[in-house]
Amino acid sequence: MIGPKALDNLVQELLRLPGVGPKTAQRLAFHLLKRPKAEAEALAQAVVNLKEKVVHCSVCCGITEQDPCPICRSPERNPALICVV
Ligand SMILES: [Zn+2]
Repeated sequence: MIGPKALDNLVQELLRLPGVGPKTAQRLAFHLLKRPKAEAEALAQAVVNLKEKVVHCSVCCGITEQDPCPICRSPERNPALICVV
């Protein structure tokens, strides 16, 4: 498909997502094109926030916004129990 470069670029990026084939990628790109700019910005920002804020807990490897995660920081939790997997 030969189209605007920005559209092609978005389609290429969407194609990297699991389960997204060429038709879905195009449909999503056209959908975003029709939606208000604020909505597209919210999506883009959510992706950036995910990468900036969500990390793996260095103790239990769970996903968290604080490392160690709130569960591992809990004083009631005995650190000796964590390694039993
Ligand atoms: Zn943890």
